[in-house]
Amino acid sequence: MPARKGVESHVLLKRLRDILAEQGEGQARLNKVTHIIASSMEAEVCSIYLRRDERTLELCSTEGLNPESVHRTRLRVGQGLVGRIADAASPFKTEDAPSAKGFRFMPETGEEVYASFLGVPIQRVGDVLGVLVVQNKAARVYSDDEVYGLEVVAMVIAEMAELGAFTAEGEDAMAMPHQRPFFAKGVIAQEGVAEGHVVLHEAHIVIANPVADDPEVEMYRLSTGFIELQSDIDDMLSNRNLAISGEGREVLDAYRMFAHDKGWRARMEASILSGLAAEVAVEKEQSSTRTRMERVSDAYLRERLHDLDDLSNRLLRILTGREVNGGEMPDDAILVARNIGPAELLDYGKKLKGVVLEEGSVGSHAVIVARALAIPLVIQASRITRAALSGDEILLDGDAGVAHLRPEESVRLAFHEKVAMREEAQEEYAALRDLPAESKDGTRVRLEMNAGLMSNLPSLESSGAEGVGLFRTELQFLLRSTFPKRSELSDTYSTVMDAAQGRPITFRTLDIGSDKVLPYMKRVEEPNPAMGWRGIRLGLDRPGLMRMQFQTLIRGAKGRPLKVMFPMVAQFDEFSEARQRFLDEVEREKKQRHLMPSKIEIGVMLETPSMAFAPAQFFDLADFISIGGNDLKQFFFAADRENERVRRRYDTLNVSFLNFIEQIAQKCDASNTPVSFCGEDAGRSLEALAFAAMGLRTLSMRPASIGPIKRLLRFVDLSEVKHVIDEARASGSQSVRPALRIYLEMIGAPYR
Ligand code: PEP
Ligand code: MG
Repeated sequence: MPARKGVESHVLLKRLRDILAEQGEGQARLNKVTHIIASSMEAEVCSIYLRRDERTLELCSTEGLNPESVHRTRLRVGQGLVGRIADAASPFKTEDAPSAKGFRFMPETGEEVYASFLGVPIQRVGDVLGVLVVQNKAARVYSDDEVYGLEVVAMVIAEMAELGAFTAEGEDAMAMPHQRPFFAKGVIAQEGVAEGHVVLHEAHIVIANPVADDPEVEMYRLSTGFIELQSDIDDMLSNRNLAISGEGREVLDAYRMFAHDKGWRARMEASILSGLAAEVAVEKEQSSTRTRMERVSDAYLRERLHDLDDLSNRLLRILTGREVNGGEMPDDAILVARNIGPAELLDYGKKLKGVVLEEGSVGSHAVIVARALAIPLVIQASRITRAALSGDEILLDGDAGVAHLRPEESVRLAFHEKVAMREEAQEEYAALRDLPAESKDGTRVRLEMNAGLMSNLPSLESSGAEGVGLFRTELQFLLRSTFPKRSELSDTYSTVMDAAQGRPITFRTLDIGSDKVLPYMKRVEEPNPAMGWRGIRLGLDRPGLMRMQFQTLIRGAKGRPLKVMFPMVAQFDEFSEARQRFLDEVEREKKQRHLMPSKIEIGVMLETPSMAFAPAQFFDLADFISIGGNDLKQFFFAADRENERVRRRYDTLNVSFLNFIEQIAQKCDASNTPVSFCGEDAGRSLEALAFAAMGLRTLSMRPASIGPIKRLLRFVDLSEVKHVIDEARASGSQSVRPALRIYLEMIGAPYR
């Protein structure tokens, strides 16, 4: 492929490389850069705008505009032609800049006399660091080759900026791109606070020499890089995913196809011929992929662009010889990733103090795993992976859903105060550990914990939980790449019971389907998986799988009492059928002379509104009922629990929902069926109080909530709480939250 003309890019890039190698101060370097670009492009003006902070671009050097305006002229991202280029992350050219849409008159620069304008983003892996502009007085049509040439130059400037080539001393100094403090506001996925150092899941790559000394050598490096990439992908697909067929297979094949895509590779080769080092040529392509990714709304296309992005990362790692997650993990590691699967997160395991994700959703498995690991997790923290470098200082406030990178002193101080307050509270909770959760009026509430991983078990002791009210058995299945063996599974259940030392454990049978997809089971595409083939529906249709789990539970009990419940039951006979199958299995196991549990209780989760109106026989037949508030609430309000936009519209303390919970509690009471609440809301202060006031006497929550809820319950008189709720209901309030808050403030109750 012929090298593009227009800008004598080789010569220019080599001169830039020389500037990079020279000793010198940042501002002087920048001035040299604008000077040589202007002369090599025969432009009267060349200016470099760099990001001063997230929102502001600052003119940092110019050849041709009024020098007085350097470090004085500032634009917001999106403002003026320069701001628009930064915002759109794409080039813009015009022969008549003052009449172009969005042009902003900046008299201090004297630029109004220059009619022609060409600007390109200075970007690095999709992150816009600034804008490079050339201007001419005469109406000049910049050719496509010139645009391309300037983009190539901008790539080298981006690498120079990343290396800190332009940082300067003094009041106008621009910090290196990764030295500024960065604040990300995300969504709370798991509360808690952590202070530590960033570990990037996908390590940031620093390229010491962005310019190709010898394009032939760079071409050879790219070509061997591609051979390695393609063979890695072929190996990965043939070994790891043999079990995947159908749609999954197609997706993987598409991934493989990209690795062999000629157009993708040809564009990188063209960049090398223009004078870029192989790594920078890959990054240039990656930047344009990321820009496209941000624009497309089609989910399938976005996924494919993600694949391409992922392949670029692999290729970069090959070219730079870096391992994934290479390097030492600091003791106080906080993982920063675009997204992460549950298994990968578990691989890091206990080494992490916290996690920040750029994507992710509250109901996702990564969140369930983070909960199980008891570490704070903030999701949807925009741009964090681009802003962070491995080793950066980071303060993670999971209670507020925010992360501070490279924080300023004042932020650090405020954070430490918060941590100190939390620690004091922890000591207080520890002192309550062996005391009952009994309110002032003598109402005793049983506090249990939710679990699903072996790593949760120590929390039984430390939190003071009275048992495990919900053991999500599917987590053991989700975190593996193949079906577990029968013996492994019964050993797991047995170990869980051992750890409980006689405290009851309620095993929920497999709740797969919806967002919980086993990687080794054929995926069924459904228009609305949350209301699709999941939970007990899948269990009843897969009798072999169900039996296998029943057997392992019975065997794992080894003669101890066994409590089992079924998820997502929507009508009476689903429960009675599943229950009967369990009892049949018990008979079979007995015949085979397996040790029988000393007592068997078969309960059910109440997760669909239909079951609240089931016949009385249902309540009689169930040994116990556990309200799965996460699902129950989503079906009650018809609001997807994973959709942040609708999820938050409906308050759990909405009067309709509370009335509904109260009715369920009363029905269970009438049939003497023990009832508990095990959704996430059980671990929230006001919600827990309201449930207890509605008559629920067992709440199961994440271990970290047990202390705060116990402290609050011991502080209040539940009959008074009930009175406050009744008054709010009678007054026609939509939610009892405001009234409850006022009451708790009034009595000085400790609540978060
Ligand atoms: C629930 O729905 O409230 C529940 C506890 O189950 P999960 O969150 O696992 O669906
Ligand atoms: Mg559920």
